[in-house]
Amino acid sequence: ANSFDDECDYLFKAVLIGDSAVGKSNLLSRFARDEFHLDSKPTIGVEFAYRNIRVGDKLIKAQIWDTAGQERFRAITSSYYRGALGALLVYDITRKATFENLKKWLHELREFGSSDMVIVLLGNKSDLCQSRQVGVEDGQSLAQLEGLCFMETSAKENVNVEEAFLQMVTKIHEITS
Ligand code: GDP
Ligand code: MG
Repeated sequence: ANSFDDECDYLFKAVLIGDSAVGKSNLLSRFARDEFHLDSKPTIGVEFAYRNIRVGDKLIKAQIWDTAGQERFRAITSSYYRGALGALLVYDITRKATFENLKKWLHELREFGSSDMVIVLLGNKSDLCQSRQVGVEDGQSLAQLEGLCFMETSAKENVNVEEAFLQMVTKIHEITS
């Protein structure tokens, strides 16, 4: 490890999951590099991105895994989830089907993920409220039912992106320390 890595107290792996084109890759590029891309490049996904986050007096290196478009074919393998302490489960508030598919994603998470994984549910594209098909209260009640954290985000307008990742990392830190 280089000296930069040595300064970190913990390394946390977390994964992004959810249907294709809900905004997973853009949430990650916003969080890691403060970038947003209007075009979707589902097959040119980065494997993962890092960002260091300070929680209290600890420096945490968050390693966030993104799919390279495998979610289209439901071909995410168990190695994607291996060792993950957190998951950001994303749907698109303008496409009801992406919300209805959350049950399948939760099933997969519980099959492959560890039982104490911190799951944050994100209703993305909150900037497109004129095309909304999923109400805030639908997201809230599913989160309550399933015991998840919940937020609506906009990767495009940078709303709640930082908060979502920080909430996940802080919760993981609470559980593991
Ligand atoms: P992924 O397949 O889940 O990784 O989704 P992408 O990040 O590739 O995004 C799919 C499309 O949705 C792209 O055209 C993005 O520009 C767009 N997109 C992502 N996040 C937002 C958002 O918050 N608001 C809006 N309006 N578009 C978004
Ligand atoms: Mg993607």
